[in-house]
Amino acid sequence: MLKIAIVGATGIVGQQAIVSLLNHPWFKITKLAASERSAGKSYREALKDSNGSSRWWCTEELPDEIAALPVEDAANFDPTSVDIIFSTIDASAAKVLEPKYALTTPVISTASAFRYESDTPILVGGINMEQAQLLASQQQNRGWKGFIAPKSNCTIAGLVVSLKPILDKFGVKQVVMTSLQAMSGAGRTPGLSAMDMMENVVPYISGEEPKVETEPQKILGTLAGESIQPATFPISATCTRVPVLDGHLVCAFVQTEKPCSPETVKEAMVNFGKDFSALGLPSSPLHLIEVTDDPFRPQPRLDRERGGGMTVTVGRIRKDPIYENGIKYVCLAHNTKLGAAKGALQTAEYLVKYYLKWL
Ligand code: NAP
Repeated sequence: MLKIAIVGATGIVGQQAIVSLLNHPWFKITKLAASERSAGKSYREALKDSNGSSRWWCTEELPDEIAALPVEDAANFDPTSVDIIFSTIDASAAKVLEPKYALTTPVISTASAFRYESDTPILVGGINMEQAQLLASQQQNRGWKGFIAPKSNCTIAGLVVSLKPILDKFGVKQVVMTSLQAMSGAGRTPGLSAMDMMENVVPYISGEEPKVETEPQKILGTLAGESIQPATFPISATCTRVPVLDGHLVCAFVQTEKPCSPETVKEAMVNFGKDFSALGLPSSPLHLIEVTDDPFRPQPRLDRERGGGMTVTVGRIRKDPIYENGIKYVCLAHNTKLGAAKGALQTAEYLVKYYLKWL
């Protein structure tokens, strides 16, 4: 079994990472770390808020052997004590800590700190795993034995998966999208106030739209030597926060290069990703995309757990009346599973098997 540390274990994504790793066939959690606020406590104690109430967020029970683990200070964490590190900390801390860990140890990160570096791919299962080769340049350029492999922003997790079959078959000219993002996407430090969110929609998420308007082009770009040539289509995004716990919904309007119809787009999506699923990675779903014909779906509560939270649900595929070659649809992805912890685990599984070749 490979030894895993979760750094940022007390946060929403860190908790989801713990749940995703329970009973994993290749990986075992041996270390937990977080900020100095949590360091020195047992994990159970570190989860308590100022009233003594547990901030454990997942519906799965927290196993006693994990609850009893000591939480180490991320700033002094010894990366050589484990085989792989899952970094689920804030971007500002990640910027400083992840390179220290990567000196010796592979780091799979959900933070944005290194996503935009030219020698760093943003890996998404079934979309761009060939870009993992770029990690060799990163290791060589920086003199690291390990590497940093970041996950994408959670808002685009469903968008990039749904765009890839459209891009491959019809080409993409431009995308306009509006997101309806779940509250868990804001994390717990400090997290959102129920008073602000109940019976409400907040039409702005600080820093989100620039990420959403640029990351997909890198992910859907092509590897050219030691860098990625981004896809050329522009994206215009409006990102909103809605009173949903988990599951980011995106309404997408896509103008394609070649003519397409709702039927041909549906067919491309349904047939997409079979080769990647056939790899049989423990965290991969059977279908990367499921398309529903029910006009009332996808809905976060009903569809976010599809494929163990790793399948993107697409619905309402229809012709756009304004764009020439226009198609519009709604897609849903589980933000803390596909869009963060479990997606990071899937990346780790792929890299361990096909890049590091440890299995
Ligand atoms: P969160 O609930 O606020 O948790 C943040 C975690 O980072 C906690 O464990 C916290 O430890 C730790 N931390 C904060 N400052 C630190 C520091 N200076 N040094 C070491 N550890 C520190 O946030 P989250 O939602 O889990 O998100 C974690 C990361 O994943 C962020 O980079 C976020 O942007 C990214 N992400 C989140 C989602 C999502 O849906 N939530 C999706 C994709 C990516 P303490 O408890 O000790 O403070």
